[in-house]
Amino acid sequence: MSSDTYLNLVNSGFTGKLAKQLGLPQPTPLRRFTPGQPLLEGPVLVLGGPSADELAHLLSADWDLDVHRHATPETRYSTVVLGLTDLTHPSSLGAPVLELSGVLKKLARGGRVVTVSRAARTEDAPAVAAARQGVDGFLRSIAKELRGGATANGLVLAETVPVTAPSVVGALRFFLSTRSAFVDGQLLAVDSSAGSLPSSWDRPLEGRVAVVTGAARGIGESIADTLARDGATVVAVDVPAAGEQLVAVANRVRGTALQLDVTAPDAGTRILEHTVTRHGRIDIVVHNAGITRDKLLANMAPDKWDSVLAVNIASQLAINEALLASDDFSDAPRIVSLASTSGIAGNRGQSNYAASKGGVIGMVRATAPLLEAVGGTANAVAPGFIETEMTARIPAVTRQVARRLNSLQQGGQPVDVAETVAFLASPAAGGIAGRVLRVCGQNLVGQ
Ligand code: NAD
Repeated sequence: MSSDTYLNLVNSGFTGKLAKQLGLPQPTPLRRFTPGQPLLEGPVLVLGGPSADELAHLLSADWDLDVHRHATPETRYSTVVLGLTDLTHPSSLGAPVLELSGVLKKLARGGRVVTVSRAARTEDAPAVAAARQGVDGFLRSIAKELRGGATANGLVLAETVPVTAPSVVGALRFFLSTRSAFVDGQLLAVDSSAGSLPSSWDRPLEGRVAVVTGAARGIGESIADTLARDGATVVAVDVPAAGEQLVAVANRVRGTALQLDVTAPDAGTRILEHTVTRHGRIDIVVHNAGITRDKLLANMAPDKWDSVLAVNIASQLAINEALLASDDFSDAPRIVSLASTSGIAGNRGQSNYAASKGGVIGMVRATAPLLEAVGGTANAVAPGFIETEMTARIPAVTRQVARRLNSLQQGGQPVDVAETVAFLASPAAGGIAGRVLRVCGQNLVGQ
């Protein structure tokens, strides 16, 4: 994996000052989660209408945070939460937003801004829909303004979902914490009140059994580590050629290894058989195995097109079919699939990859309703530029540019994707279904 030399240089004395004088990007090293870390360091400002009262209660009574209801000058807030579910006209956005404006310059490094609002619908009164949709535009803009590793993300609740619903609480906690370090400028929909709060926020996956494909290295390896840290028993899957690395990962997380090419016709049955025989159940499947075979379409050989589609999407469809037909995959199961920002925005030279990753997004949308009856969900995570062996193969100059093309001005780490996967796999995320959450630092493409 390549390291980001520019990020290191900019954060050291003289070269940092020079970069500033020249108006060059100034990425801040992101603070990431370590067990035992407090949820927030510093006071939280909660602004907005009636829903802000409920949010303030959650943050102070349940999570023991130092909550302020009005901005006090000179206070350095770690976080600002805006409760905006009651907006009826765009003019009502002004008061909370301008109060936020007064404290933004003093927001702590790595600070957080989180909006909680409602989805605009065609049946809304035009003024209500305008106010709701206005929150989206506002949120995406302040995410682009924040510096110092701070992020802004929003929760967009369906009409019947209260702010106390498990997925609102779980997603709010995820956005506030360092687990979401590289998630920026995103609006995550909460569709229902399904899901349940974990008995421990430190080990929300305790007792759950998770399968991770492509787990021998890169993002998949980090997903295996992160799910195990959160309490899950992990089955690590990868091709036989990666067998040695795979066994090392499985041993480290105290799980088991399954050498399997996910394109094998019997892959689904073999995953079910191995997991249920060894661990008694199967609750979470993370479709992470993926390949790139980049070529301009004009130069695309059939095998490059076919292999990318086979590994990145056809295998997931076939494995899901086996899972959905099995009684063993029926206790609030979770499917989390790796998409990519290329599948949303497109990318020159990646028509095969983008078709497969766009396919993943369509697949989870259509799979989610099939799991609803058993309290299950299917969602996708779309990474932007993540520092792995896959991206280390990109030519050096293109790689340098690609890293800076997001609001945090740096590439993400595999763990950033892994934390997001772990959140979507958790019991609290049961009300989020068929959605795509981007882990891209608010990549400029397709945003
Ligand atoms: P990687 O190449 O480092 O690791 C992929 C793993 O999948 C490897 O261990 C490989 O052996 C395994 N694999 C490949 N084909 C397989 C098969 N047929 N059966 C079983 N295992 C197989 O890639 P990564 O960067 O860690 O990416 C992981 C996922 O994230 C992929 O789906 C990728 O498309 C997606 N993604 C990555 C980035 C990024 O910036 N790295 C961005 C967007 C999406």
